[in-house]
Amino acid sequence: MGWAIAVHGGAGIDPRLPMDRQQEARDVLLYCLQLGVNALKASVPAIDVVELVVRELESNPVFNSGRGSALCTKGTVEMEASIMDGSRNKCGAASGLSTVKNPISLARLVMEKSPHAYIAFAGAEEFAREQGVEIVDTNYFITAENKDRLEQAKEMNSIQFDYRIPESEDGVGKPDENELLPTVRSYANGKPVLEKAFGNGVTCENGDQSSCKSGYFPESEINGVPINLYQPETVGCVAVDIEGRCASATSTGGLINKRSGRIGDSPIIGAGTYANEICAVSATGEGEAIIRATVARDVAALMEYKGLSLQDSVDYVINKRLEDGKGGLIAVSSNGEAVAGFNTMGMFRACATEAGYYEVGIWH
Ligand code: ASP
Repeated sequence: MGWAIAVHGGAGIDPRLPMDRQQEARDVLLYCLQLGVNALKASVPAIDVVELVVRELESNPVFNSGRGSALCTKGTVEMEASIMDGSRNKCGAASGLSTVKNPISLARLVMEKSPHAYIAFAGAEEFAREQGVEIVDTNYFITAENKDRLEQAKEMNSIQFDYRIPESEDGVGKPDENELLPTVRSYANGKPVLEKAFGNGVTCENGDQSSCKSGYFPESEINGVPINLYQPETVGCVAVDIEGRCASATSTGGLINKRSGRIGDSPIIGAGTYANEICAVSATGEGEAIIRATVARDVAALMEYKGLSLQDSVDYVINKRLEDGKGGLIAVSSNGEAVAGFNTMGMFRACATEAGYYEVGIWH
């Protein structure tokens, strides 16, 4: 038992991402992890913690959610988010948002204040106004960087999994291991030592990056349309509080150059987000593949029906259910465990548990 939390910032990461950008994304994740840890230690319920953390991620343009959302083919944002409270078996989701500052909070309001589970596009914007959530001009979400990315995606006639186009084309398929931030795991007296994450004396392990060293850029496509894997993206948070209540939240701008009206896995309960009384899961990656594999619900179902551990359930879904190279997930159990798994080259992630497990990393 005990609290646990995990945060992700997407699984479509490109090893050519400049080191300072890797560090920037990791710093934001660590900041958000600490925010969640502090809230859990202060007995804040898991559902409030995941909303708090995802709101913070949405407000930072480093990731593809809220401010910094990927642009659809029309040059506008169509954001989507979902949230689930496992202890109450309640969920809410919203899609097609273009003016709602924090999509995750609208999803929470769908859950708490509407008789529905999922509201989209004009109806969702109308609901947002009725509920009095913060509305901003649609230009708030549109960054110069994302305009460039959309242009590039259009030139390449591809849909992009996000993003942060690398500064150099050198070394495509042969990332320099010195350019990959190491995975850091720190333990001290059975407790996570978050403030030492990048300090002296921290236990650093260069994770097995052999797949990257000898790796290549997976060619990928959705029904014949090329899709590129790039950098920090969709965000998510899962948490279990000291009462053992599990909750999950996921928020995204979706894919760059996606068709207007396209809905990915992030707002779909059972695909991108799921929580029940034994675990909470948030997925990231190619939404179409995650939907087909019912990723989030399958982790919970393996635990519920087969009695598998959280780790074994995550491994099964990542290795056997989700097509290779398509994504990853974070998960916590009501026992206070936190697990991250992915079958892409990397996933921005950070986890901490009351029992002392701590992990922050990008690569395997
Ligand atoms: N799953 C998201 C989508 O397909 C993208 C992501 O995770 O980055 O919309």
